Amino acid sequence: MLRIHEIKKSLGESQGVIPERIIKKLGVKGLEIQEYRLIKESVDARNKADIKLVYSVDFISSLPDKTAGETESRLLNQCKNAKLELAPDMKYQQVAQGSESLMHRPVIAGFGPSGMFAGLILAQAGYRPIILERGKSIEERVKDVERFWKEGVLDEESNVQFGEGGAGLFSDGKLTTQIKDPRVRKVLEEFVLAGGPPELLYKQKPHIGTDVLRRVVCSIRRTILEHGGEILFQSRLTGLEVSGK
Ligand SMILES: Cc1cc2nc3c(=O)[nH]c(=O)nc-3n(C[C@H](O)[C@H](O)[C@H](O)COP(=O)(O)OP(=O)(O)OC[C@H]3O[C@@H](n4cnc5c(N)ncnc54)[C@H](O)[C@@H]3O)c2cc1C
Repeated sequence: MLRIHEIKKSLGESQGVIPERIIKKLGVKGLEIQEYRLIKESVDARNKADIKLVYSVDFISSLPDKTAGETESRLLNQCKNAKLELAPDMKYQQVAQGSESLMHRPVIAGFGPSGMFAGLILAQAGYRPIILERGKSIEERVKDVERFWKEGVLDEESNVQFGEGGAGLFSDGKLTTQIKDPRVRKVLEEFVLAGGPPELLYKQKPHIGTDVLRRVVCSIRRTILEHGGEILFQSRLTGLEVSGK
């Protein structure tokens, strides 16, 4: 798969124009785009009368009588000025099934973003984690927070800080971290699988929004449960007893 940068379209144009823009930019006769995936979208608003969306795109292409590998080599050789490169492997290298057998099921304290993804990955690897969360499930938590906002009654265990989804659940859900760690991609892909908008994967400043975030967290909870994990709400970790080696 190849990656090309600076493919542009106007605001009013549909995404369907992307393949033809790639072909035009590369200018290679007979080239066809078989598949493409938007990797990044940014806005070029320098000309207010014609604001452009600018994309980096991964694509699979073909040339008549050429294998996929031959097509890629030919394009890389022939289109040196086209901001073209081999697409990096962005797949998060997760163990499909854990091979290590554990004496006990792993226990995670807290079901905020960190505990959620630790739980999800352990569950996907077959380790059936047990997650302890001091607060309540989203459904109950939302009622407690609304009561606090209306009546000023604070539930010390179920509030804007504590409960399923963690401290940011009542925030706006801006997902703007731009670190290059491949695990960021894994998080965004899981959000999309759990019902988040597909553009999370390529928007420069992805934004999930509070309502969608809640549905996404419930869906990730279901995935953990389907994989044999357990989430115990209103279960606060109060200490650790260490015995043996
Ligand atoms: C108002 C607000 C708005 C924010 N907006 C954004 C945003 O738009 N974008 C963004 O990226 N980040 C945002 N953040 C930051 C983001 O929420 C945090 O970075 C993130 O929640 C940290 O995740 P965490 O899992 O490490 O901790 P937390 O989210 O704090 O999760 C910890 C969880 O553990 C539970 N817990 C605590 N102690 C125990 C215990 N002893 N036993 C069992 N369970 C326990 C808590 O109830 C909680 O659910 C915001 C934060 C706040 C407070």
